[in-house]
Amino acid sequence: MRTTVGIIGAGPAGLLLARLLHNAGIDSVVLESRDRDYVEHRQRAGILEQGTVDVLREAGAAARMDREGIGHDGIELRFDRRRHRVDFPALTGGRSVMVYAQTEVCKDLIALQLAAGGPLLFEAEALAVEGAETPSPHVRFRHQGREDVLECDYVVGCDGFWGVARKAVPADVSRVFERTYPFGWLGILADVPPSHDELVYARHDRGFALLSMRSPTVTRAYLQVPAGTDAADWSDEEIWDELDRRLETDDAWTLKRGPVTAKSVTPMRSHVHEPMRHGRVFLAGDAAHIVPPTGAKGLNLAVGDVVTLARALVELRDTGSDARLEAYSATCLRRVWQAERFSYDMTTMLHRAPDATGFDDRVQLARLDRIATARSAETDLAEGYTGFPLD
Ligand SMILES: Cc1cc2nc3c(=O)[nH]c(=O)nc-3n(C[C@H](O)[C@H](O)[C@H](O)COP(=O)(O)OP(=O)(O)OC[C@H]3O[C@@H](n4cnc5c(N)ncnc54)[C@H](O)[C@@H]3O)c2cc1C
Repeated sequence: MRTTVGIIGAGPAGLLLARLLHNAGIDSVVLESRDRDYVEHRQRAGILEQGTVDVLREAGAAARMDREGIGHDGIELRFDRRRHRVDFPALTGGRSVMVYAQTEVCKDLIALQLAAGGPLLFEAEALAVEGAETPSPHVRFRHQGREDVLECDYVVGCDGFWGVARKAVPADVSRVFERTYPFGWLGILADVPPSHDELVYARHDRGFALLSMRSPTVTRAYLQVPAGTDAADWSDEEIWDELDRRLETDDAWTLKRGPVTAKSVTPMRSHVHEPMRHGRVFLAGDAAHIVPPTGAKGLNLAVGDVVTLARALVELRDTGSDARLEAYSATCLRRVWQAERFSYDMTTMLHRAPDATGFDDRVQLARLDRIATARSAETDLAEGYTGFPLD
């Protein structure tokens, strides 16, 4: 099998890249190790930055998002039983975010890819990427019990944190920067309308809580829990009680409870792999970097990477210039590190570390109070949350 761009992974990065290349008339093949149902139902991110929304619209993949997505013009911070709303458009010159689940983004992109004739192969596991430094890199993969080879001009590893593409970058070339946090997020989905019309980020002495939503009838909520926690150890009632405690305010706000339909724990880590390119092999999305979910950046960074890459490949085809392609890793990493910084700031401001002292607590509260009272600090949060510009 032969194609111009071989894409490993049908998460948001791989699917959007295939769509952008298709729109530009560049052929690609997507290999995905899992089946379609799994990819379409894996619960993950849900906040789309303004830039991601714009890209999905330009790519012709936004019809359902524009009908069903919920636009959000701000978030609420809770600390010390107080509430402070951050107004995004007022602070950023009109930017905002959209609540639309990653599962739905993937379903929309899969439908478009298959309608356009694919090729998108499910249950096709990439085993190795070879020939990165040659003009014809290739992917060895297994599909329907048979091993095959996908010959390409370029290979893009969109295969997430556990994928194989990163191994194509030799150990003596790659550098890894990482931080593992001593806590994770216990996340639930519940069949109950959201208790607040925007996301609520709460800092509490018992730990962080986030109140989010998937739709007008489905609540998504998270609790900070110690690393290694088993979701099964928490009953639904204990989760609601703990959310109630951490989200409590001095006014009459109340939490709406309902049947929990899904429950899982997400570990928290920051990870960056440099460079994001070796020869003709490129890394995009979680294959190259992970952020803790506090800043809602993971999916949006994946989108940023593939937009940069698609533009570079189009420029090469149209003008013969490989300047953008050569700059791919540096261009993406500048944005990635801004997102890592933002996510780190949000995480350390809102979560309680197991060894936190009274001093640490007071500094966290002072950081939140600064956002609530100084427009410069509040603007910095709003700009980071609504997203860093795409190149
Ligand atoms: C449990 C969890 C919860 C998260 N929650 C949030 C959140 O609340 N907010 C937020 O902003 N971000 C969140 N994230 C991060 C966000 O979902 C990711 O940043 C986003 O999915 C990145 O997209 P991607 O396409 O790069 O990678 P992925 O979505 O991981 O897609 C990679 C794809 O590659 C496939 N693959 C892997 N190996 C191979 C192989 N060898 N051959 C073929 N295919 C392969 C995988 O099956 C997968 O479909 C979460 C992530 C996880 C894991």
